Amino acid sequence: MNKKEIIANMIFPEIKDTIQDLEIRYPKRNLPDGAIVTRFAPSPTGFLHTGSLFTSLVSTRFAHQTGGVFYVRLEDTDQKREIAGSGEKVLEQLHIYGIDPDESYVVNGPYEPYVQSERKNIYHTVIKEMIMNDLAYPCFCTHEELDEIRKVQEEKSVLQGYYGEYAKCRFLSDDDIIEKLENKESYVIRFKSKRSQDEEIGFTDAIRGTITFSAPVNIQDIVIMKGDQLPTYHFAHVVDDHFMRTTHVTRGEEWMPSVPNHIAMFEALGFELPIYAHFPVIMKIDDGKRRKLSKRKDLEASVDFFLEEGYPIEGFLEYLMTLANSNFEEWRLEHPQNDIFDFQLSFDKMSLDGALFDMEKIKSICKDRLGLMDADTFVKNAYDYSVQFSPELKKVIDQDPEYFKAIINIERNPEKPRKDYEKYSDILRVIDFMYDEYYFNRVAEGLEFNVRYEKKLLIDLLEEYRDNFSLEVTQEEWFEHMKNLAVNRSFAAKGKDFKKNPELFIGTIGDYAEILRLATCASKNTPNFYFILSILGKERVIARINNTIGVLKQTQE
Ligand code: GLU
Repeated sequence: MNKKEIIANMIFPEIKDTIQDLEIRYPKRNLPDGAIVTRFAPSPTGFLHTGSLFTSLVSTRFAHQTGGVFYVRLEDTDQKREIAGSGEKVLEQLHIYGIDPDESYVVNGPYEPYVQSERKNIYHTVIKEMIMNDLAYPCFCTHEELDEIRKVQEEKSVLQGYYGEYAKCRFLSDDDIIEKLENKESYVIRFKSKRSQDEEIGFTDAIRGTITFSAPVNIQDIVIMKGDQLPTYHFAHVVDDHFMRTTHVTRGEEWMPSVPNHIAMFEALGFELPIYAHFPVIMKIDDGKRRKLSKRKDLEASVDFFLEEGYPIEGFLEYLMTLANSNFEEWRLEHPQNDIFDFQLSFDKMSLDGALFDMEKIKSICKDRLGLMDADTFVKNAYDYSVQFSPELKKVIDQDPEYFKAIINIERNPEKPRKDYEKYSDILRVIDFMYDEYYFNRVAEGLEFNVRYEKKLLIDLLEEYRDNFSLEVTQEEWFEHMKNLAVNRSFAAKGKDFKKNPELFIGTIGDYAEILRLATCASKNTPNFYFILSILGKERVIARINNTIGVLKQTQE
């Protein structure tokens, strides 16, 4: 056994496998030509970032539209930051958005395990062989020693880091290393970069084209295994994406500067380089300036926000697709009813300079999608939402699901969609007056009748309407009837008649209807009034008018 082998065995005595064994255990995937394998690699830090939902959505589409595989791997090597249960939560939230990985730490698959902390043996196998082949070495430097190196570099004004002549532990003899290991000194493992100072490095990004980094970029002996025996992100990326046979590494553009280090390791190990596709970071305009969507500052940086507010799933997905590909909206106009997953994404239609997050556009798309939804689906989604997030809405729906559905169904016509709601949490605000407890609360807060009309007149009008009220008529007949009552009381049948001769009228038919709306709904705005009255039913309408008359009489005295 040579000395490097002795060192490798001292560090990893339990590892018997070789890289070749791993190559056999995790063979290339047997997929049709052109099939793409992508992954989403969340760190379990408690919540799903909106940018990560975007990345997963796009990654899953690229895989599935080519007959490939999309998997999720949990990157839990930073155990200090880990929040228990967040890996499962991420998968649950992806599922809500219709993103179901083919392989993950829940469904598993041939490349398991899908959790990095359970892949220790794999990393150790690779590192062991790297040590034997002089591609990696243990570094015993303390924080103080590293600080010392930094100071010297600062004084000399040279590149910072652990490289070349500054990589102190590179120069330890094998015997020194063996001695330190025998003395149980603590260490990390570093990659031994074979790159030189003046070398440029380039690669082709599927979205951005050819990228060249000027020298020196990857001469650093980066840490690949920490003191806790777990790999760093950079090394785990190389090993996992190789042995899980990822063809396209789709990730945020914040990883671009690390690509040279990754390439150096892929090359040193003789692994085929995957195709990189670095997605734009999601930006927002704040105080006139563009900045990254921040999980500390912006509620909308978290997918939880969209779920809690009840933005319809299909609306939010639709919005994310507009961020992904510039030609999506054009396609949508031509195919308004298609599943969004029918759209073929392409890398070269992705924006390069930070996708701008636009809440107004999200709201508008969600309104459209809710307008196009059939009543059964709307009611089911609203109920599911209420079960999770709104006990108040749930209570209302549970009282009488058919009544709720009738309200939601008012003028629900996908040919000519109404835009009453942008999210499920809007529902109560729009229709609460249909329920007596809310109606009477509103009445108690005060009915804002137009001050132009004296209470006596309001009472007369309401009594007259009540005494002549019938629902056994068509919408047109109902309207004619209301118009006649209004006109007899000197309301103009048309707004323009009133404008022409205001002195002849006391208001318009709109003013008259507002009085009725306030009396029956305690609101000036309602969806189609005829349907509202029909759903409330004659008895309730009359009871409400009587109640309003009572309130008016009380306050009149
Ligand atoms: N765990 C990394 C992150 O959360 C994944 C980056 C990647 O996709 O490679 O940023």
